[in-house]
Amino acid sequence: MHRLLIRNIHTLVTMGEDERIVQGVDVLVEDGRIVAIGKNLAAYPGQSRPQAADVRTLDATNCVVYPGFVNCHHHLYQTLTRNIPKVQNAKLFDWLIGLYEVWRELSEEAVEVSTRVGVGELLLTGCTTTSDHFYVFPKRASRELLDVEIETARKLGIRFHPTRGSMSRGRSKGGLPPDDVVQDPEEILADCDRIIAKFHDPNPFSMCRIVLAPCSPFSVTTELLAETAKYARSKKVQLHTHLCETKDEEEYCLKNLGMRPLDYMESTGWVGSDVWYAHGIYFNDAEIARLAKTQTGISHCPTSNLRLGSGICPVPKMLDAGVKIGLGVDGSASNDSSNFAREMQSALLVHRVGTAVDAMPPIRVLEMATQGGAAVLGQPEIGSVEVGKAADLAVFRLDKIDYAGAMADPAAAILMCGAGPRTEYTIVNGRVLVERGKLVGVDEEALWERANRVAEKMLSAAEKTTGMKYR
Ligand code: ZN
Repeated sequence: MHRLLIRNIHTLVTMGEDERIVQGVDVLVEDGRIVAIGKNLAAYPGQSRPQAADVRTLDATNCVVYPGFVNCHHHLYQTLTRNIPKVQNAKLFDWLIGLYEVWRELSEEAVEVSTRVGVGELLLTGCTTTSDHFYVFPKRASRELLDVEIETARKLGIRFHPTRGSMSRGRSKGGLPPDDVVQDPEEILADCDRIIAKFHDPNPFSMCRIVLAPCSPFSVTTELLAETAKYARSKKVQLHTHLCETKDEEEYCLKNLGMRPLDYMESTGWVGSDVWYAHGIYFNDAEIARLAKTQTGISHCPTSNLRLGSGICPVPKMLDAGVKIGLGVDGSASNDSSNFAREMQSALLVHRVGTAVDAMPPIRVLEMATQGGAAVLGQPEIGSVEVGKAADLAVFRLDKIDYAGAMADPAAAILMCGAGPRTEYTIVNGRVLVERGKLVGVDEEALWERANRVAEKMLSAAEKTTGMKYR
């Protein structure tokens, strides 16, 4: 039995049913679950036995503790293609067209190193559960890139909801991606079957749940969308895709598919409590009501939406209407960071201008980052610090200059002050993965060197193939 006792917590933000904010408490963890919350807890409640060797104690004096944050949208492989001058100032479609040429260079090593970078950044900024949308399977690369990603994430210890993405509508069929990065529907569905059998764990407290995720209305065929929905339901796995990200996408759907994006997705079976969309900026009021009624989820990705000039998702209005919403950092080619704390700060600020100054108070951001994300991913055992829940915790130090003079509301300090802070500790499934602000067992400098070497290789290859300048 493995026990972890987190002592002297200054402020615990539980996001639970009862008291949401408590001060001066301890949290006791046993075998990956929270077993007690209270003042002056003993490692062995009811026993006089002294602390045994299998109890680890962490001191959380002057720290604020949250349920580990839940990231609902990412493309981890893109950590190797961030900050590229050619697409720094491009809109989504031009950005994609420029980047497909670099992504076609993905290799097993690129997937492994990008997963290490992206998951590392997430863990360092308090995220303990992430989804990932992997959808580029270049014809000349290994067929098992997603396996590499999942195995790498498992080693790193994050709770994972990887999606088997897909693209089947290449340029010759009126889609956006080049033909050599798309796959046949039969090949895609056979691989979905393989990956579910190999990795999917449907049980509560699961560390890996597979999701099926055709990329977008403009990169997959109608048949593949419909087939994927039918197949996912037969396997009881969730569905995810991009929707209503830009005006260009809406125009593409009206012109090429004869319908608005949500009508189109609904016509292929893509609404329901087992579906969530990334972005969701361009829904009208009637569509927002339909999302709420069908319990279809949204991943709000404010930084990416700002970076690509896509628009501002009407999140306050959607929350008022009862839409299920989580937060997502989105891929690092459009953020260009996996810093989850910074994403929360973006979400806090953008709606103050987009809607109204009181439209997005800190507690609403925290709700999306924790319980909202847990609801979107369908994993109710995460997202709050309560007895019986998963021991996924984000611990931030407040005794720093960033928070000096800010202790009137410790629970909101990391949102209102400082810039995308790192955690003191990040705990997933009872395991300490970040300790004193550093990833346990990872040499950050060596990872930086490796990532730059692989990124350089991909960029040079793309420049050679296309004859275009990327920097
Ligand atoms: Zn995305």
